[in-house]
Amino acid sequence: MEKHPISVLLIDWYNQNKRNLPWRNSRNPYFIWLSEVILQQTRVDQGTAYYHKFTEKYPEVADLAMASEEDVMLSWQGLGYYSRARNLHAAAKSVVAEHNGKFPKTYQDIRNLKGVGDYTAAAVASIAFGMPHAAVDGNVNRVISRLFEVQENPLLPPGKKKIQEISNLLLDRKDPGTFNQAMMELGATVCKPRNPSCETCVLNQHCGAFSAGKQHDFPVKGEKTKVKTRFLHFIIFKDLDNRVLVSRRATNDIWKGLYQFPLLETDGPVEPHALNIPGTESMTLKKVQTNIRHLLTHRELIIGFYHFEGEKLPNKQWEHYEVIHLSDLNKLAFPRAITRYLEAQ
Ligand code: SF4
Repeated sequence: MEKHPISVLLIDWYNQNKRNLPWRNSRNPYFIWLSEVILQQTRVDQGTAYYHKFTEKYPEVADLAMASEEDVMLSWQGLGYYSRARNLHAAAKSVVAEHNGKFPKTYQDIRNLKGVGDYTAAAVASIAFGMPHAAVDGNVNRVISRLFEVQENPLLPPGKKKIQEISNLLLDRKDPGTFNQAMMELGATVCKPRNPSCETCVLNQHCGAFSAGKQHDFPVKGEKTKVKTRFLHFIIFKDLDNRVLVSRRATNDIWKGLYQFPLLETDGPVEPHALNIPGTESMTLKKVQTNIRHLLTHRELIIGFYHFEGEKLPNKQWEHYEVIHLSDLNKLAFPRAITRYLEAQ
């Protein structure tokens, strides 16, 4: 596959201009992972000292795994965001327990480590193992947004998808690690958030924002899409034969095609006793759990579950619902919000 001209220019520039940072002299996946975790939310000059401290104190991933939590926390002291240290420690333990102490070699296994997201997995997989995964961080978001005048906010799903697609297209598949580092380096040292050095930028002939004089309009910020809150109340009716009512969601709404219990939706929160539930006359309310928060993209759901028991199910009032035995519930696909609730019962 032909290299993209942008990739050729970028890697050439990087090879001549890269900062000499200690982790760049290593292909040790453990060291690269350490550097990536340390550098999240930390400046390079501050992070470098911690990188040296960790690689000297815990030269192998097993050393980190065997250290006590207090010791790791102490080594981390001053870096902030302590969940990073806890995740680091937990991930090191799982490398020892599940991978025989050898740092995992596939993208998915790296991604499965605690605290590792898409970006870190792609960075480690490409830099340590030469795997063709484009790593996209804040720097890359900025560079790609400007080069291609991306009109979507890279922090929202459509923009994120677009930037990832463009990065995949530009990626040098023969040398993905260098490409990823070059992209991030350009973002950190040339295509800076304020006052990018466009006049001397190696990519300025290919840059849409520069040729339009609109560098500062990218990345597009755009208002965060408003999160809509919906209030859902699921009624779980059960008869003496342990049968319940369910139906399959057919409307063009969330969870289309999945099953649910009889549902009422209100415009706002309601007290359980104020909810008007048809078919409960000869049934007994056994249990209520409300205010369960569940997040979907652009939606916040506030969910309540009401358990009623009685001799007969109120099929008449809930005519579009079918009767099914409790033991068959696990054969139907329910939304995550419902299965999570059922599993916790
Ligand atoms: Fe960024 Fe300017 Fe280079 Fe475009 S020309 S990539 S805006 S530094």
